[in-house]
Amino acid sequence: MHDGHIIIGNWKMNLDAFASRALADELRKKLAGIRLAPNLEVVVCPSYDALASVGEALSGSALQLGAQDVFWQEKGAYTGEISASMLAALGVRLVIVGHSERRTHLHETDELVNMKVKAALSQGMTPVLCVGETYDERRIGHTELILMRQVVEGLKGITLGPDNKLVIAYEPVWVIGTGQAIDPAQAERAIQVIRQSLIDLYPPATIATQIRVIYGGSVDPGNIANYTTIPGIRGVLVGAASIHAENFIKLLASFT
Ligand code: PEP
Repeated sequence: MHDGHIIIGNWKMNLDAFASRALADELRKKLAGIRLAPNLEVVVCPSYDALASVGEALSGSALQLGAQDVFWQEKGAYTGEISASMLAALGVRLVIVGHSERRTHLHETDELVNMKVKAALSQGMTPVLCVGETYDERRIGHTELILMRQVVEGLKGITLGPDNKLVIAYEPVWVIGTGQAIDPAQAERAIQVIRQSLIDLYPPATIATQIRVIYGGSVDPGNIANYTTIPGIRGVLVGAASIHAENFIKLLASFT
């Protein structure tokens, strides 16, 4: 049973292995001085090259290790790719899947994203399935359609075992990295649509205990409470504000 929030830092391709390690060390040191809210889960997702070193720095701390992507095949001739078991071997507990930057720049489709969700679950890791509309999709009134499609297609054929957990991150593409978060009422509406789609896929008990729906998009210490106080929102996915120790610690402290 989970009843707390989750906060996930997505470091993207911003820090090399040395800077990532330095940030992990700093976070660990700063964390020693604050008391985290009970049941708050905290995850950081460095780039692949830094996973081992950041994992080492965080070992035994309250911070968990996450990854920014995963390949869907387990092993073999897939040059440049990293499998779920390779991530699991480094202590990765959670994997971001279907981030809008990958959907845009790497042309990831719902079908590929679905295979990645399955791969993560097969290794007992928690997939963070990112969904969200672009500005144009919102402008022509397609937001709900897009969200429903990305949830349903991303989770196609996926049953959750009793130990599996899943996170759905609502990330309106048009506010990511802009410093301008979405109107909380718009976020709340989108989260309702996502939750409605989940109701069609999973029993209520599974949704209540194994699936979290969270918000992401220009979250910072000044606006985080606007989202985390909305009842259907169980956490945040944070980019820019997660790569500065001071800001990230402020985000964590906002939960106490
Ligand atoms: C993200 O890319 O997942 C994200 C939420 O970025 P930012 O917080 O910088 O908008």
